[in-house]
Amino acid sequence: MEIKVYNSLTRQKELFEPIQKNKIGLYTCGPTVYDYPHIGNLLAYTIWDVMKRFLLSQGYKVTHVMNVTDVGHLTSDADDGEDKLEKAGRSSGKSAWEIAEYFSRVFMNNMHNLNILPPTKMIRATDSIKDQIEFVKILEEKGYLYKTSDGMYFDTSKIEDYGKLANLANVDQQEGARVEKNLEKKNPTDFAVWKFSPEDRARDMEWESPWGIGFPGWHLECSVMSRNELGDTFDIHTGGIDHLTVHHPNEMAQSEAVTGKQQANYWMHNEHVKFEGGKMSKSAGTFVRLEDLKEKGYSPMSFRYLVLQNHYRKSLNFSWESLDAAQSRLTNIIKEIAWYDKPKGKCKDLCEEFNQAMADDINTAKALAVLQKVIESDNPSSAKMRCILKMDEVLGLDLENLKNKALELSGEIDIILKKRKEVREKKDWSESDRLRDKLVALGVDVQDTPKGQRAIQVKF
Ligand code: AMP
Ligand code: ZN
Repeated sequence: MEIKVYNSLTRQKELFEPIQKNKIGLYTCGPTVYDYPHIGNLLAYTIWDVMKRFLLSQGYKVTHVMNVTDVGHLTSDADDGEDKLEKAGRSSGKSAWEIAEYFSRVFMNNMHNLNILPPTKMIRATDSIKDQIEFVKILEEKGYLYKTSDGMYFDTSKIEDYGKLANLANVDQQEGARVEKNLEKKNPTDFAVWKFSPEDRARDMEWESPWGIGFPGWHLECSVMSRNELGDTFDIHTGGIDHLTVHHPNEMAQSEAVTGKQQANYWMHNEHVKFEGGKMSKSAGTFVRLEDLKEKGYSPMSFRYLVLQNHYRKSLNFSWESLDAAQSRLTNIIKEIAWYDKPKGKCKDLCEEFNQAMADDINTAKALAVLQKVIESDNPSSAKMRCILKMDEVLGLDLENLKNKALELSGEIDIILKKRKEVREKKDWSESDRLRDKLVALGVDVQDTPKGQRAIQVKF
């Protein structure tokens, strides 16, 4: 099947052509683990998970690599300010190592809750320091670096088309307009590849290097890991749209400086989740976590459904009402499929329509509409079930498991159902209605069919 994706590099939808026939190298910029992931971050990983699942469903073998930024992400993109991990450690009385360990675990847990397939390889920045130092040595040998009082910097003027990804030549990138100017930098877009530790104190995380004790610049880890695991040029590089102007141009510049080749052929970016009018962000401190959703009684799968209703290149205005609507939709799907027969046969054309939607730049909203079409179609329920399960391998809504859970009823509910059966046989309709109300209050759906009553309880 022909797959088209929007490539930020060419600013258009393109036919996807992998370097090798059946294999795909995919790199996703991972989380900075100094705080809880917010649902904006989790949207990013959900989207790339759906894309990966689709590629897998089309027979590709996908090698998926992701970093975990546990050092070197400064509070400012302009290489000023504190390391976010050190800062979080200082304010909570923990070491940067403890902070990173704790929030990495939270992140993994959130991924699991959202049914996101684990990457083939996840690598912590602190586990690749040696390779990062080797990479910086090459940059130095090739003459791309200069030294300032606080670190080794990459001279972006040495790259002819620096910033091609974001068309930075046309974007106001004047550093002084945003933050205090670093007067030692030769160009506003230059960035640190190695930062020196302060002279008056030891950092929690610091390493010896040919340039002095310090720590790597944030962009370095992605260049190094992607090259080590996927080669000089790989297929797809993904991240949030905020990476378009700083992180990805810098990653791309240093990778191409070292290898002389294009780092990735397709660069894909998800738009942001917005909340209360602004971008949801950890540093602004106003964000919603997956744990907040769960505490309010929402399922991570309802959030996944909400994400899929939106196209990844459109921002998603998060509201509790929209999540509520998504949870209702998902509940209705489970109620519909609860009584379907075992999967068998085929739904004519609909699987094809689903794949076409996904192949059109991951149009998940359209794909969900096709899922609904399957439910509403007059195909036998066994064929519908087979088709839905096939689609769910891509959507990842965990429908089979949710259906099975809905059909499992507790002993207490079984007793009420038995009693209701008895009173119905005695035609005691008012008692039957009273028991139905009792079941409804417990979240149970009861239907009276010619074969008797049947019940489900949708549980998330
Ligand atoms: P971070 O942990 O801040 O490095 O972000 C992890 C991922 O989430 C990156 O790919 C970011 O581009 C992405 N991201 C950050 N904020 C948002 C947001 N509000 N909506 C969607 N994606 C985001
Ligand atoms: Zn990255």
